[in-house]
Parts: sequence; structure tokens; C-alpha cells
Amino acid sequence: MTIKILPAILANQIAAGEVVERPASVIKELVENSIDAGATDILIELDKGGHKRMLIRDNGKGIPKEELSLALSRHATSKIQDIDDLESITSLGFRGEALASISSVSRLTLTSKTADQTEAWQAHSEGRDMQIQLNPAAHPKGCSVEVLDLFFNTPARRKFLKAEKTEFQHIEEIIKRIALSHYEVAFTLKHNGRVVHRFPAVVEELKHKRIANVCGQGFVDTSIAIHGEFEGVVITGWCNAVGQGRRTNDLQYSFVNGRMMKDKVIIHAIRQAFEGMIDSQTYPSFVLFITMPPDELDINVHPAKHEVRFHKTRQVHDLIYKSISDALLLSASTSEIEFTQE
Ligand code: ADP
Ligand code: MG
Repeated sequence: MTIKILPAILANQIAAGEVVERPASVIKELVENSIDAGATDILIELDKGGHKRMLIRDNGKGIPKEELSLALSRHATSKIQDIDDLESITSLGFRGEALASISSVSRLTLTSKTADQTEAWQAHSEGRDMQIQLNPAAHPKGCSVEVLDLFFNTPARRKFLKAEKTEFQHIEEIIKRIALSHYEVAFTLKHNGRVVHRFPAVVEELKHKRIANVCGQGFVDTSIAIHGEFEGVVITGWCNAVGQGRRTNDLQYSFVNGRMMKDKVIIHAIRQAFEGMIDSQTYPSFVLFITMPPDELDINVHPAKHEVRFHKTRQVHDLIYKSISDALLLSASTSEIEFTQE
């Protein structure tokens, strides 16, 4: 075979293999786009676990008419301009790949209105030829993305979709994670016409209400607050107190600069803090927020951005360990005082 440049649609479908694994990855990318656009109210509507239809509607800043087609092209982003921007990134997206990838493996409709447009516009793509048609539409300020028939033109991938219930659970988990890190945004999740979750927006001081809404009041009632700070790195959150570990690791949430992460360094530090208090089959439950200067971590490790690399791994590890150990110690001593007072 001679060397040829791949047609755009094929290049996008190959990229989609990395970004779009299943309906939940579509939801993650689209909801993150809504948050990056400053939305305060996000509706997620699904039919059949997302296999059939996914709709994300937000009240963010929207996409101007003349940028609608561009938004669907690969490597088109409004979030970074040069390599230095990557060092200081604060938005959730930056690769400019999600919309191009998703639209190459689905029937996608993007509808939007910006504050200064009098009319909304709609771009539709059928995943085939990347020919995008623009039509006038009705929509309040913000953006809606509707994704129908995910993987309809990549049957090999479609085969790997799991049952409706399984795909729905993955989506529910993604929404919970995003809701935990963005309490200032209201989320509504509907499945097959029924509202499954409604997380109203809350102010910083009432953050625990969102945590209770997502993780259950039981978790909040039995948890202790974590706080630690060192050289610009701040750790906050909640973890369950001694003796209340779970048999499953389904209540372990960690975020770095508002981005959900499952990181070996974080898990290791937490386990170490709990050493001797829970056995190896028990998992501590926690919701942990780490904030640090953006130039002290690398988020461009994986296209789906699940992983980060800390530049000062040891320092972050030790700070997490210390913050949780301190919180556990404090809670042990206060419960002793309560005990003697009784
Ligand atoms: P990225 O998020 O990495 O920039 P995407 O392919 O996800 O790439 O989106 C491309 C661009 O489309 C974004 O940079 C943004 O300008 C615009 N965009 C996408 N979704 C929205 C949205 N919900 N509201 C406003 N603008 C959006
Ligand atoms: Mg994006």
C-alpha cells in the first residue's frame, strides 16, 4: 500500500476509539464542555442507557453560529492556543477532540444560542461524510447536544456495548463524580423519561448537602472533615471514621483541580493513613479534593484525562497521608472525650 493521508472521518473515528469508549464517556465529555462554558444548570436525558439517545442541555455561553461547524472539527478548541497554555490549564477540556470524535461515530445535532444572537442555530452531522448542515432553530441561551445511535457506523464497537442497565450505571457514576466536584451547578439526570437524580445547586457553605445528595446522608453523618495545606497544595474533603470501611470501593472519590481522578498515589496515601484501623478487605470511603498550582501537574497523560502526573509526587502523597491521619487522630480524641463525659 502507498502512503496516504486518512480522510477526516476515518481519522476522527480512530481518535474516537480513545476518547469514546461507551455512552458514559460521551456524557463525561459533553457535561465537561457545559461546565467549561460556565453553565449553572445541566440536563442529561438518556434513552436506553444512552445506546439510543443522549441529550445534554446547558445554559452556558453557547457557540456562535459561525463557529458551530468548527466546534465539530478535530483539534478545534477555544481553550488553548499554544503549548504554554497547557501548563496553566484550568478548563476540563483542551484537546479539541471530543465533539469531532463523538460526531464521527453517531448522528449528532448541536444547537446553540449565544447571548448576543437573536436566533439559535443548529448543526447536524450524520457521522458519514462530516458534511455539516446549518439550520435556524429554537433554543434559549446555551447549548444542546443530541447524540443518537452511538457507534451506528462502527458495528464492531457497537457490539461491545453492554446491557442498558450496565451502561446506565456507568453514566450515573460519571454524573455523581461531576456533581461532587461542581456543587455550584444544578444537574438533572433523566432516563427513559423518568427523573433519576436531581442535584440542586448549592453554595460553598452547604457543600455537605450536595455530598449527602450524592453519597447519602449516612456517609456525611459518619464522616470526618479533612483539611491540610502545604506550599500551595490544599487538601479538603471527608472520609469515613475508623471502623466504617466498606467491602467495596464504590465510595472513593478524588479530584485534582476539579477533575475527577483515580490515582495510585492518592489511594496509597489514604490506605497508609488507615493502616492498622481497617483490614485489607475493607475500603475506606472518601471524597477528597486536591487543589494545586496547575503547573505542578501533568494532565495530558491520557486522551480521556483519567490520569494525572504530579511533579512533586512525594509531597502530595505525604500531605494526603498527614491530613487524613490528623483528622483520624482528632476524631479519635474527641470521641474519647465524649465517651468520658457520658
Ligand atoms: P475541547 O473541550 O477540548 O475544547 P471539544 O471537542 O469538546 O474540545 O469542544 C470543542 C469546542 O466547542 C470547545 O473548545 C468550545 O469552544 C465549544 N463547545 C463545546 N461544547 C460547548 C458547550 N456546551 N457550550 C459552549 N461551547 C462549547
Ligand atoms: Mg471538551
